[in-house]
Amino acid sequence: MDFDLSQEHKMWARIVREFCEGEIKPYAREVDETGALHWESIRKMRDVGLLGMEAPAEFGGMELDSLSVVIAMEALGTACGSTALSLAAHNGLGVMPIVRWGTRAQHEKYLPRLLSGDTLGALALTEPGAGSDLAGGVATRAARDGDSWVIDGTKAWITNASLAPVITVLLRTDPDAGTSGFSMILVEPGTPGFTIHPPEKKMGLKGSPTHMLSFDGVRVTADAVLGEVGRGFQQTMMTLDNGRIGIGALSIGLAQAALDEAARYAKQRRAFGKPISEHQAIQWKIADAAMEIDAARLLIYRAAWLKDNGRDYAKAAAMGKLKATEVAEKVCHDAIQIHGSYGYSREYPVERIYRDQRLMSIGEGTSEIQRLVIARRVLAEYAE
Ligand SMILES: Cc1cc2nc3c(=O)[nH]c(=O)nc-3n(C[C@H](O)[C@H](O)[C@H](O)COP(=O)(O)OP(=O)(O)OC[C@H]3O[C@@H](n4cnc5c(N)ncnc54)[C@H](O)[C@@H]3O)c2cc1C
Repeated sequence: MDFDLSQEHKMWARIVREFCEGEIKPYAREVDETGALHWESIRKMRDVGLLGMEAPAEFGGMELDSLSVVIAMEALGTACGSTALSLAAHNGLGVMPIVRWGTRAQHEKYLPRLLSGDTLGALALTEPGAGSDLAGGVATRAARDGDSWVIDGTKAWITNASLAPVITVLLRTDPDAGTSGFSMILVEPGTPGFTIHPPEKKMGLKGSPTHMLSFDGVRVTADAVLGEVGRGFQQTMMTLDNGRIGIGALSIGLAQAALDEAARYAKQRRAFGKPISEHQAIQWKIADAAMEIDAARLLIYRAAWLKDNGRDYAKAAAMGKLKATEVAEKVCHDAIQIHGSYGYSREYPVERIYRDQRLMSIGEGTSEIQRLVIARRVLAEYAE
């Protein structure tokens, strides 16, 4: 579906699809089985431009528009869920806040390392007691002490934390100031009192490491604040609006991969004297999957287009993420059904793809939260 893509977008799509097909997809099973990313492929991403998609060219970035990022995230999702999630977190959560709100000194210090291919970026918002309700639940604090901030608390479920040269952490810097009492602070691994715990044992996305972090009197200098003190909550919301487009695109990639596998299998597997693709019940699943993937893709493209044109895209991003993640759940479920018992086996990719997609309706805002965002916006449109 590329009827509305420019020549540049088509060329970028061809480059990333070929790269993902040749350099990422062949290792997807190994990444899942070993629980480790394939670093040789990640290093090669530097030359393709996948490690700094929206970063400034002077630091090796591509300065791509949002539609190009969507195209790349879909291609990555089609190839390998673990690699795609780590790349979504790297570009959208790790690199982008630093690009957007970092000082010149922070850019010079961190962007070359983040784009080197030897590390991946990370953002720590979630805590053991706070995910959807960050404003009400974040308890990790940074207290000012002379020229430093002293951090105490715990973060949970942080993608790429063990791979990052620096982690952006959402902290409460003024407990009495509500949503104006948060700031983002950059913390480097190795800082005394900062512990990155062993990776979580997860259902899927096993190659993408997820960690708990603890901060016990971690001292950083005042210039480690990212953006303005007191703006951390607003920065978080802006980052998540953008991230939702990426997770939506990734989910479309996973759904497309499941459909590709299911359609191929259905044409070759026979039952009752003919390929199962000739049974109407299978055809309907294939038709619904193709239609729903296209619908989700259009919503995500629209969200990206709105963003690229400087328009408000929060509702469109929430709609796109909600639709794409729910489509991925259904399409991947049906792809296993089409495979019968083989779909339940680790020998066939649909088993892995199904496990990998399950996170997408939870991370970067659950489906319930997307519905809240959409409903609030829609109801506001009916204001008297
Ligand atoms: C693999 C993985 C990677 C992750 N990577 C990162 C990362 O890099 N950085 C990071 O900061 N976080 C990360 N997360 C955390 C993720 O973003 C959170 O898990 C997510 O935001 C949900 O928060 P929670 O788990 O605390 O669920 P909760 O907020 O406790 O929600 C539990 C349930 O209650 C529902 N619920 C909550 N509030 C409402 C409401 N008002 N109305 C209706 N229903 C509601 C939710 O939708 C959900 O179904 C990751 C998680 C995983 C599993």
